[in-house]
Amino acid sequence: MLTESTLKADVAISRTLIDAGDYFIGVVKAGQTLRILDLEGNQAADTLFYSATDTSERYSAMDTIREQGNVYLTTGSVLRSNENTPMLEIVADTCGRHDTLGGACATESNTVRYDLEKRCMHACRDSWMLAIAEHPEYGISKRDISHNINFFMNVPVTEAGGLTFEDGISAPGKYVELKALMDIVVLISNCPQLNNPCNGYNPTPVELLVWE
Ligand SMILES: [Zn+2]
Repeated sequence: MLTESTLKADVAISRTLIDAGDYFIGVVKAGQTLRILDLEGNQAADTLFYSATDTSERYSAMDTIREQGNVYLTTGSVLRSNENTPMLEIVADTCGRHDTLGGACATESNTVRYDLEKRCMHACRDSWMLAIAEHPEYGISKRDISHNINFFMNVPVTEAGGLTFEDGISAPGKYVELKALMDIVVLISNCPQLNNPCNGYNPTPVELLVWE
């Protein structure tokens, strides 16, 4: 569902640019609002969420989908943990649909989906692994890297139940906004994928804004 935000960018407490192929890791406190802004359109922000007090509690696609009875994420979606606890709620969305089924790109999946020679290409899973290696203070290990959300990515389910990666439906300036319901570690890989129509074969920066 398309919903605009009333929050003004000039009163945000932080603004962070994530270049394509780069990562972000940081904490958003309970009650704060996080906006992910697709600056140039058709980008994919591959995102994981963890409880900041116990990172073994993390975002769960299964619990989220089951409880809301829908496979797409948009305004009103409550993102749940593997303990079925509400972690964040999508409170504004000008894109209208976000994927949590397609998974993140990895060098292994690049070889399966595209070509053996794509194995050496930079992938979201690499960015996550680099983030947790460079930031051991969050206590996130390889085993915690699990199913994720692809904000702005368009992976419609066909009538037969199939998944298809389609052209992005996002556009420059579209955003999704989430209110944190607990203290959250946010881990985002701004997707470097060059083989997939979801980001128009052209990875571009996204911006994160946080409000109290
Ligand atoms: Zn990716």
